[in-house]
Amino acid sequence: MPKLRVAHRVRRTSAEGPGERYALWVQGCTIRCAGCCNPEMFDPERGEQVSAAEIAAEIAAEPDLEGVTFLGGEPFEQAAALARVASAVRRAGRTVMTFTGHTLERLRASADPAVHALLDATDLLADGPFDRQQPGSAWRWLGSQNQRLHFLSDRYAADDPRMRGPNTVELRLTGGALEIVGWAPAVRRFEREGPARKVRSR
Ligand code: SF4
Repeated sequence: MPKLRVAHRVRRTSAEGPGERYALWVQGCTIRCAGCCNPEMFDPERGEQVSAAEIAAEIAAEPDLEGVTFLGGEPFEQAAALARVASAVRRAGRTVMTFTGHTLERLRASADPAVHALLDATDLLADGPFDRQQPGSAWRWLGSQNQRLHFLSDRYAADDPRMRGPNTVELRLTGGALEIVGWAPAVRRFEREGPARKVRSR
């Protein structure tokens, strides 16, 4: 299987899509939205190189997951490797959610077969560049009003109440370090102002 450039991975979270999911942040994004919450993931040379097979095995080993979520960075800049992971996840009966800064229309117009392979293996697509002039969204997990959720398979539907529930932030102690996973505006506020403020903001 091809290699992935990975920024971060969390084996189980309830903050990055419906149900409990493995979350994978890929490294590298050329879109560069103003106000992006993950600018440390722009550079495609940073992060670690991991084989798609290793990621797929790690996901398969995690019991009772609903699926995987790909974030970034820009997942469609590593579409071939992610499509391999996504296909393995779906063969196991689990679901795939993918975030992208591109619009679905632009991806569908791509001449790159890997882009179509990742789209075909995605159940739930969150699309569009982050626009800091339009903060907030009616959809859970999305950062700005121009972004959309697309239901690309019958595994999820717009009337699922989980799509519009409150956003979630998880504070995790991992190897003695505090890790924050979840809705980006709250994460950034936590980083600026500290945990006492953050707890009151929910
Ligand atoms: S597409 Fe995503 S990772 Fe890339 S700049 Fe925009 S918000 Fe950041």
